[in-house]
Amino acid sequence: MKSIVKYLVALLLVTQTALAQQTETVSKIVAEGTDNSQLENLAHQLMDVIGPRLVGTPQMKAANDWAVNTYKAWGIEAKNEAWGTWRGWERGITHIDLVAPRVVTLHGTQLAWSPPTPKNGTTAETIVIPTIKDSTAFKNWLPNVKGKFVLVSMPEPTGRPDYNWKEFATEASFEKMKKLREEQTALWDKNMNNTGTGRDLNKVLEKAGAVGIVQSRWSKAFGANKIFSANTDKIPVVDVSLEDYGLLYRMTEKGDKPVIKVLAQSKDLGVVPTFNTIATIPGKELPNEYIVLSAHFDSWDGGTGATDNGTGTLTMMEAARILKKVYPNPKRTIIIGHWGSEEQGLNGSRAFVEDHPEVVKGLQALFNQDNGTGRVVNISGQGFLHAYDYLGRWLAAVPEDISKHIETNFPGTPGGGGSDYASFVAVGAPAFSLSSLNWSYGTYTWHTNLDTYDKIVFDDVRSNAILTAILAYMASEDPEKTSREKSVLPINKRTGKQATWPEPRSPNRKGGQQ
Ligand SMILES: [Zn+2]
Repeated sequence: MKSIVKYLVALLLVTQTALAQQTETVSKIVAEGTDNSQLENLAHQLMDVIGPRLVGTPQMKAANDWAVNTYKAWGIEAKNEAWGTWRGWERGITHIDLVAPRVVTLHGTQLAWSPPTPKNGTTAETIVIPTIKDSTAFKNWLPNVKGKFVLVSMPEPTGRPDYNWKEFATEASFEKMKKLREEQTALWDKNMNNTGTGRDLNKVLEKAGAVGIVQSRWSKAFGANKIFSANTDKIPVVDVSLEDYGLLYRMTEKGDKPVIKVLAQSKDLGVVPTFNTIATIPGKELPNEYIVLSAHFDSWDGGTGATDNGTGTLTMMEAARILKKVYPNPKRTIIIGHWGSEEQGLNGSRAFVEDHPEVVKGLQALFNQDNGTGRVVNISGQGFLHAYDYLGRWLAAVPEDISKHIETNFPGTPGGGGSDYASFVAVGAPAFSLSSLNWSYGTYTWHTNLDTYDKIVFDDVRSNAILTAILAYMASEDPEKTSREKSVLPINKRTGKQATWPEPRSPNRKGGQQ
């Protein structure tokens, strides 16, 4: 009896010591992340100096090298791991001007992988696509594009986002505008459909002798356009702001014969290798079990990829820096994965999953962040039956002022796409998304020309870095390995069928123009 009491007292002491240790480590993490934050410095170096990180560009490689050097300066092992190749390209300057009937400097930029203009630029008239009856009519009209810049986007009836209309318009005029826009959009789509070109419109226009293509892909927010890729082989494709595009379109349609000059420089760099940057803090007790801090490193290149996914990148780097300082000898191995091509289909993380079965097998937990600058407000169990137990345990150690914003959803359903955690969930490994408050992400910054440093909300990112460091610490110290048991997935209300676990997919390791 006496020995049992002695044992229980000893156990209590051990538990109390562990708890005191935990409280102390968490306070140190909070203090380091709050009082010695490196986020502004890192953001400046990555977004302002290196800039956007389109896969296959020298800037992406510069970012890879910068991350390795930054980790090394913090005493963390890091390397660039080749996973495939991509079409290499480097952006040069873009200048777009209306030169007749009056001079206007237009806001716009060439799209990713756009071919250049000749050295001194191209000056030419613009043309719009007329009402087309069918693909034969389109073929008959097509020779008209020779020597012209073709305007291929629908001119938006308003450059004001809906929230602005809602605030100021009479209800009747808001409704009227929406109806007009719907009708116009339906007509536009039908007309484009009648051309019979599908997704190859740019290539068809190029073949017919157009000298360039002008588009405007409005993102439904003041000043914001989506900037994706060109999809031509020889002629440049530029995106022009809604305001300037509308001007060009109205002038062309009404017979004012606008002439624009486009100077777009870029370099085709052939096929180049692509990398994931992988940093590691080795585990002392269970080195073959892993916590992965995950964020894609690549971006589109309209802005500087500040919120997609500069902020996710900063969160993981800052969490790693804090951990190395406060918790340098983790029980399990902590890996930071900066994936090289998420935007074209989770390629970097899918390649890592294929190339590192040992990490997939030993994965204790992965935390991914990739939906903007906001503080984390949602964590789903991704369909893992016991996620509630372990994520609940770890979240309990997070200070109230951070955790009070977070809703959890257990067991949740497995994410099949969206971001890099899905590459791991698809092979049954416990990977989770730290989902952010949106801060108008979808319209203002996601893949737009406005995704820049000034949109970063540093207090929210700071909170996310601290949260991530605490979750990584708790996951590392947990006495138990996490369970991978899957829950029974719910019936999809729309299809009436039971939801299924996502299938693993292979990466595109030989990416061309996307
Ligand atoms: Zn992203």
